[in-house]
Amino acid sequence: MFIPLKYGIERSPIGYGEYLVRCPHCEAHQWAEMLVSSVYSHIYYIPLYPGDKDAMVVCKKCGLKRYGVPINANLMTDYMEVRRQYRHKWFSYIGVSIIVLPFVIWLIFLLINVVTN
Ligand SMILES: [Zn+2]
Repeated sequence: MFIPLKYGIERSPIGYGEYLVRCPHCEAHQWAEMLVSSVYSHIYYIPLYPGDKDAMVVCKKCGLKRYGVPINANLMTDYMEVRRQYRHKWFSYIGVSIIVLPFVIWLIFLLINVVTN
């Protein structure tokens, strides 16, 4: 039986705010509404690990809508602050947890062995 492998990236909105960003249409810094999304890898829709963060940006002056805009120095000057402000959702770490958990349990048993012997 053939089961197609379903994997790729998904987006989940993690925050919303208004920021002064560079608008390519206005060719200047303008206030814009920004919907920040967490981008994560998935396999069969089970999140594996969080990846990048990007944003949907709507310029408040000209109304230009941009999707999947990377949050970097080209968009705004205080991009590191914005990236830090919004956290990936807990479920995007499920895949990493499943992989790491057996090792953590093994380590705990190893430590218990060392302490009791
Ligand atoms: Zn604009």
